[in-house]
Amino acid sequence: MSDPVPEGSEPHDPLTRRLTVLSGPSGVGKSTVVAEIRRSHPRVWLSVSVTTRPPRPGETHGVQYYFVDDAGFDRLVDEGELLEWAEFAGNRYGTPRRPVEERLARGEPVLLEIDLQGARQVRRSMAEARLVFLAPPSWQELVRRLTGRGTEPPEVVQRRLDAARVELAAEKEFDVTLVNTSVQDVCDELLALMVVH
Ligand code: 5GP
Repeated sequence: MSDPVPEGSEPHDPLTRRLTVLSGPSGVGKSTVVAEIRRSHPRVWLSVSVTTRPPRPGETHGVQYYFVDDAGFDRLVDEGELLEWAEFAGNRYGTPRRPVEERLARGEPVLLEIDLQGARQVRRSMAEARLVFLAPPSWQELVRRLTGRGTEPPEVVQRRLDAARVELAAEKEFDVTLVNTSVQDVCDELLALMVVH
């Protein structure tokens, strides 16, 4: 598997090298993969993002996300508490900086599940992070998953499809592509990538 050192960066900083970023279009199954890792490998630490999006049924504050209002999110941005953040389909999402930095400083692996804009910010600020692109088996399958979720109004689904089209074109910016044909296989491949050799 390719493991390029981006141009202009220092070769292999052993700390940021432990940062793995999982990205890919909305609906591709990133959160299912992350939920499966959480279930099967509870010792793997996963960053919990902050979002202004309302919780979906079954989501718990502090587990899938920290749910905050706009003012709360503004405060985190102003105080420099977010490692990266992005607006996605009308809501804002960000990665709390401190827990990530603390774990990297201890040499522990960190996994972020974030959108493309966030992945690009991480690429700029932590050049040694490994960026993993989760791809759908096909465009038809992605449309089926996004429309079948049934939790979002049609205009939100449409915005996510528009975003997915743009995100699919970004695959070449990533170090590794994993195709989500089987959640278990993707988890195994991802966990293998997170081990620093
Ligand atoms: P969802 O609303 O489906 O949970 O997430 C929508 C998108 O936001 C997904 O592509 C997800 O990866 C992304 N996302 C979740 N947390 C973060 C974050 O902390 N930062 C960024 N940039 N994107 C995030």
